[in-house]
Amino acid sequence: MSSSPSSRALPTTLGELRKSEFSESRLRDRRVKDELRDNLMQRLRDGQSIFPGVIGFDDTVVPQIVNAVLSRHNFILLGLRGQAKSRILRALTTLLDTHTPYVRGCEIHDNPYAPLCRRCRDLIAQQGDATPIDYLAADDRYVEKLATPDVTIADLIGDIDPIKAARGGHDLGSEFTVHYGLLPRANRGIFAINELPDLAGKIQVGLFNIMQEGDVQIKGYPVRLPLDVALVFSANPEDYTARGKIITPLKDRIGSEIRTHYPGTLEEGIAITAQEAWQQRKADRVVIPRFVREIIERIAFVAREDKKIDKRSGVSQRLPISCMENVLSNAERRALVNRETVVVPRVSDIYAAMPAITGKLELEYEGEMKGGDVVARELIRAAIAKTFDVYFADADLAQIVQWFDLGGEIRLTDTASASDAIAGLKKIQGLVERLTPLGLGAKEPVELQVSSAEFVLEGLHAHKRIGRSEERVFSAEKQPRREPVVERDRERGGDEPPFRPRNRRSFN
Ligand SMILES: [Zn+2]
Repeated sequence: MSSSPSSRALPTTLGELRKSEFSESRLRDRRVKDELRDNLMQRLRDGQSIFPGVIGFDDTVVPQIVNAVLSRHNFILLGLRGQAKSRILRALTTLLDTHTPYVRGCEIHDNPYAPLCRRCRDLIAQQGDATPIDYLAADDRYVEKLATPDVTIADLIGDIDPIKAARGGHDLGSEFTVHYGLLPRANRGIFAINELPDLAGKIQVGLFNIMQEGDVQIKGYPVRLPLDVALVFSANPEDYTARGKIITPLKDRIGSEIRTHYPGTLEEGIAITAQEAWQQRKADRVVIPRFVREIIERIAFVAREDKKIDKRSGVSQRLPISCMENVLSNAERRALVNRETVVVPRVSDIYAAMPAITGKLELEYEGEMKGGDVVARELIRAAIAKTFDVYFADADLAQIVQWFDLGGEIRLTDTASASDAIAGLKKIQGLVERLTPLGLGAKEPVELQVSSAEFVLEGLHAHKRIGRSEERVFSAEKQPRREPVVERDRERGGDEPPFRPRNRRSFN
């Protein structure tokens, strides 16, 4: 135990415990779910946030979890990859008591007033009020297991340990000889099983028996373990609802099914990415333009709607988070090489962040035919086009397009220094003057001006108004275009409805 003043003052024997705030009348029958409920009620009365740091679930997922906890339910979160399911389950520990007394040395953290295991019952019978007491912190009371088909009853519930039996002279099947699995070790805490449908049928039966009766069979020996555990689960919704994946009696014992979802609005997505991505780089100044954040977030939004991407596995929020980290690193690398003190990501850094994107896309057949790189590039381009429209839908940029149509060309690599780049960009008539929709003041660092001007060129390219080669040379769009007119209009966004965030309650 830690030696903080509060823990030093904690009772160390059963006798002291009885006379303390951890009295028998208070703790004897207080189950984990009562404790979660009591502490949650206090949090609600105090008007405190229930899950700080969980963004975008305030009106949807959080109230349903609150109701599940108030109902003392075991519950399951159903959602796709990267919807903060594990994070929410772990955050349940914030609803546990700071200190939980147990019989010192007990493998299943027995309640001193109601011990389950033979060892502790014998110990208390012998030592009475002198029985030593120890404490669990809230974080120690969370056990998590990723379900896989090879998880066994021994892993989950326990096994008969023949060495223990031989050493202690006990009969096999005596509870002295049990080697406890994860679930008994989670006694008086929270046990989370992720991807529940991947658990083999007979393990689900074992789990059900312990939820229902507190009984388990270990290698044919019946052992009674009426554990005190709050069980929580997560699963992919399609796996969970597929016939035969979950045995019916187990499903029946899960009190609440709660659907998670991806961020409902771009703003929520940006806030989550800003919170989760590692951004503390050692530069004098890191400036992430708003449009860079929007493009990165829109990649995920566009991907979630794309037919080439597998809807059943979804597009994790980890995509924009990893992408943001990679984008920053590419900008950091450019600043280091060019000895610049201000790090400002550019659109070209997003293309350079492909390694953080491709691995997070599960492709459908059509996507596989095209290849992951091509699909990712298309997503980035679509995200740029939508973001460009937010800022420049009403701007007259014909002068810039004309400069290229008259034969103007500029090469802008992602490693070019800001001073080199700005010299070239200033030659494009009308470009620097058109950056006002991005909120650029006169005294902005040159790195930010370059990033903004490049965004305009990338936006024009995303709408096929100017061309760009593999070597990042911007030039006039090649005429005539080979692709059919319909296709071109669609890509230009001509008939496309304006971007709208998905309905946040669409899962209902
Ligand atoms: Zn015990």
